[in-house]
Amino acid sequence: MQEFIVTFLLASSLLQAMLGIYIWGRRQEAVGKPLIIIAVICFTWMFTYAMDLSSENLNEKIMWMSIRFSVNIFIALPVLFFVIEHLELPTVIDRKKLLALTIIPVLSVGMVWTSGSHQLLRYDFYIEKIGELPVLRWKSGPFIWLAQFYANVLLSYSVYLLLRSLPGAGPVKSRQTVLIIIAFALPVGVNILYTLGVSPIPDFNFAPFLLFFSWLALAFAIFQHRLLELVPLARNTLVDIIPAGVIVLDKHNRIVDANLKAKKSLSAAHQIIGQDIKKAFPALNLVEAEAFQAGNPNQEIQVSGEDGETSYLEIENIPLKNTDEQFNGWLIMIYDVTERKKEELRLLQLTQGVEQSPTSVVITNLAGDIEYVNPQFTHLTGYTLEEVRGANPRIVQSGQTSREVYEDMWNTIMTGRTWRGEFLNKKKNGELYWELAVIAPVKDREGQIINFVAIKEDISAQKEAETALRESESKLRMLNRELEARLEKIAGLESELREQAIRDPLTGLYNRRFLNETIEREFERARRNQQPLSIVMIDIDHFKSINDNYGHLSGDACLEMLATLLRQTTRKADIACRFGGEEFLLLMPGAEPEMAAQRAEELRLLFANSMPPAQVRTKITISIGVASYPVHGTNYTDIISKADEALYIAKNHGRNRVVVWAGHPN
Ligand code: GH3
Ligand code: MG
Ligand code: MG
Repeated sequence: MQEFIVTFLLASSLLQAMLGIYIWGRRQEAVGKPLIIIAVICFTWMFTYAMDLSSENLNEKIMWMSIRFSVNIFIALPVLFFVIEHLELPTVIDRKKLLALTIIPVLSVGMVWTSGSHQLLRYDFYIEKIGELPVLRWKSGPFIWLAQFYANVLLSYSVYLLLRSLPGAGPVKSRQTVLIIIAFALPVGVNILYTLGVSPIPDFNFAPFLLFFSWLALAFAIFQHRLLELVPLARNTLVDIIPAGVIVLDKHNRIVDANLKAKKSLSAAHQIIGQDIKKAFPALNLVEAEAFQAGNPNQEIQVSGEDGETSYLEIENIPLKNTDEQFNGWLIMIYDVTERKKEELRLLQLTQGVEQSPTSVVITNLAGDIEYVNPQFTHLTGYTLEEVRGANPRIVQSGQTSREVYEDMWNTIMTGRTWRGEFLNKKKNGELYWELAVIAPVKDREGQIINFVAIKEDISAQKEAETALRESESKLRMLNRELEARLEKIAGLESELREQAIRDPLTGLYNRRFLNETIEREFERARRNQQPLSIVMIDIDHFKSINDNYGHLSGDACLEMLATLLRQTTRKADIACRFGGEEFLLLMPGAEPEMAAQRAEELRLLFANSMPPAQVRTKITISIGVASYPVHGTNYTDIISKADEALYIAKNHGRNRVVVWAGHPN
């Protein structure tokens, strides 16, 4: 029997220890901490009871009892804390209250360890066997009643709180609570009965045995109903995960609670619970702390954190009332609006950039109605923002941009792409202007088009310059063509002039001037090539009388007739020219005197047998003198005068004949 009871108690304490270790892993949860203390107390309670019952030595038994008593007299406190945390009651147990609640247990502990010297608590110890079980007995002093009363009242109060919470609680919570009630009420009830002297075995406390079942119930609550997980989720975790700082103040501006976010964003000292709000948050100066005072509407404050970064906080004060609708304190919500502020600042910078931009900016909604234009747009078009807000950008259309351009633009931007192109638009004053436009859709985070932004540049000046350039280019081309034509003409005129300069106008043959230019060169060539060169001098016979008889024009016709014959009979290398009046000279490079004479003879016959020009009713003839290089002379003046002399001889010998210079008469 003794062994069984001792084994049961030890096994039970082992179960406690294991649960205690499990809960230790969850000690950061609000309900975890008091539960660990309860577990330690229960473990000690059962373990020392087991030790007590297994010993037959009075002093040992007194010692185990004293340890047991010293520990379990405190159990009501962690139980109360546990219940408060579990039910999330706003009750605050500060140090003073805690100190008051520990006076009786502390005094009891002092008394139990000094039992031998007074009769206030337990005294006159002895051992009584119940069956085989050696049970420690004593007499109870007055203080034990006080201590028991204290513990039982506190425990009953906890059970009362649990029972009270049941009606409004949710299903999970109430199942947990019922299990906790079972766990607490059983030993508490038995303990009260024991204190009142109602026990199946007088002075034998069954409470420690029942603790086994209590812990079974708690284990069930923990593992089956997630006791340690739901409770913090409902409170601490929830308050810590919401993205705002939360501070609860009592009506004297003392901090009752604050979540992690609040502590972080205000760089709070570690121990802030119970402190005045102004002292708790050194990051705030006093003026800013006023934001936390009663009745202030939402405020924005600026705090600099430990890293020197400035953050912007929005503070919202919500008055708290208790169940009797009486003002009880403040709930302060702290929203970190730094990002929003920065965004606003960035937006401000962008807006200023757009406002001062040297290019026009137009923002429209999806329908194309203008929502914004910048000052440059006004400057360019003459339309103010007030005038064009809500209007369609069509107001600046000139009607001179083709429909395809607009269609292409809409097709591009409605499919989310950026369009780039040119418009010929019209200002408010009717003036036309060219603009280069880049129009892009603005999309929200989901990629939906919400606006269009057009950035436009006035390119009229450029366009004008381009047109001017094109015009001047075509003008230049035209001028060039004209110039070319003129140059061609000049070249033609030049060659004509040149021809005129070297030709005789009446006959078209070369003139004396050309002969002078050419004859020296020809003689040079003949000398170089050691070739002969003949000069044939021709003179019309009695020409004076033709002029006299038939008129000067008829004379001219005779001259032309001779020239035509000369042109027809001369070869490519020969040069025929009018030497003067009615005298002609034929230069024949390469021709020996005989050859030249033969050709001269042919010409004489041809001329003599030709039909004279009209009106000239007489036969006309020519006389010819021939001289050749190198046989008749070494230079051209020599040869010319020799040919001239031969001609003179021909005249003297009756005309109408050819005479080759023969060295006579000189
Ligand atoms: P010939 O030679 O047989 O001795 O007698 P000729 O009458 O021909 O004598 P000459 O050579 O002295 O006369 C040349 C005349 O030719 C003088 C001039 O009036 C005439 N004559 C000169 N040049 C031209 C001309 O260009 N046109 C015409 N119609 N007559 C010209
Ligand atoms: Mg003559
Ligand atoms: Mg003559």
